[in-house]
Amino acid sequence: MKRTYLIHGRIVDGTGSPAIEDGMLVLEHIEEGYDKDFIYYCGTMDEELLKEAGENDNILDLKKEYTLLPGLFNVHSHLDLELPYPPLKIDFWGPAYRSLVAYRRAAEALNCGVTTIRNVGGADDFDLALKKAVSKNLLCAPNIIACGSILTAHGGHGYDTVGSIECTGKDEFMKETRKQLAKGVDMIKLCYTGGLAGAVESLEGKQITNEELAAVIETAHAAGKKVAAHLSSDQAIRESVELGLDSVEHAYHMTESTAKLMAEKGTYLIATLCVSNGVDYLQSLNCPIHQIEKSKEAGKTHMQSIQYAVQNNVKICCGTDLLPSDPIDGTNATVHEVELLTKAGLSPLQAIKAATFNSAELCGISHITGSLKKGLMGDFIAVEGRPDENIADLRNLKMVAKNCRLIWSDVPGQKVRRFSVLQPGYEMEGGVFKKW
Ligand SMILES: [Zn+2]
Repeated sequence: MKRTYLIHGRIVDGTGSPAIEDGMLVLEHIEEGYDKDFIYYCGTMDEELLKEAGENDNILDLKKEYTLLPGLFNVHSHLDLELPYPPLKIDFWGPAYRSLVAYRRAAEALNCGVTTIRNVGGADDFDLALKKAVSKNLLCAPNIIACGSILTAHGGHGYDTVGSIECTGKDEFMKETRKQLAKGVDMIKLCYTGGLAGAVESLEGKQITNEELAAVIETAHAAGKKVAAHLSSDQAIRESVELGLDSVEHAYHMTESTAKLMAEKGTYLIATLCVSNGVDYLQSLNCPIHQIEKSKEAGKTHMQSIQYAVQNNVKICCGTDLLPSDPIDGTNATVHEVELLTKAGLSPLQAIKAATFNSAELCGISHITGSLKKGLMGDFIAVEGRPDENIADLRNLKMVAKNCRLIWSDVPGQKVRRFSVLQPGYEMEGGVFKKW
């Protein structure tokens, strides 16, 4: 047994509690069982406890210059996303290459401080494979919450995306939900309305009947799993929330009364503000003009919708729809999203909570990770500065740890090189590797 003592650090524990100015985080490493490491202590500086430190233990003084916080979550990712979208389910990659690309992107996300990813739909069940490999410690990557394949209506949003499954009628939706559950998905993802990617579909109205959605929700809930839905319009959000949907994705257009209903029902909101605030980035990827125009159109009401959610205390989580590590506005998409949440009215402390504790709760893993407290698995980051006061300090990432193990660190006294799945010279350093 060995311990790491991170002393004199500022600590933001992710639950929304104010920062501890002179804090201490103690990690206990169980040599024979990598995934049994845990947080032994998290709280104010404890000199008595520090006296227990032995010769083999590791002590790092953060000199109150660094803030420790839980690793970030990105709960709306598609690690096999190809932009611009290949048309008509043309699969340029195939399952084996897709898995490798997804792993590389997951590794980049981890380097950016993202320690958990919820993959809300992809092809070939690569997310289930990745989750299995990570949970067996075969690979170093973020924790994965897998949704398997997206369910959509025939001709509905994403019908032409590789891996999506088209259904019509409550029996087909139920059958496909059961098939997803049998594969071991953590959550069901479906598309209920049109979106930004479709050339002809509208953001208004809906593509799935309430009877079909109710069948999916009943089937998933009976198995103890949540349902997340791509939702663009106010009417569709309201009806889905009334039917017991767990997580609303996007909410490009939502009224205040619907936001109030979400708060009342405890429905989670994943705003993906990056998408409607990243027009320049989409343009740089040569996305088709209709997608750019629709992003601009959605942008007109998106921020206001999320502001209603903030003002009415809806539980907000952090997701981007872009890759977690995509370079945008001088940082990565995940940090950019947290910053945008503060523009929607969350305080920096609340925005950090959205990207940590709330997201962990959504994923059903808040008893394991997503905050800093004794007994949790020890997924955390350190940034230089005070992100709970100035959210842009999240850009000053200096250390990433997962399962109490350092992934990399630039903190003086404990320098650890970024881990090496990435080809030297092709690391994520303000520019993403595009030749997938
Ligand atoms: Zn999405």
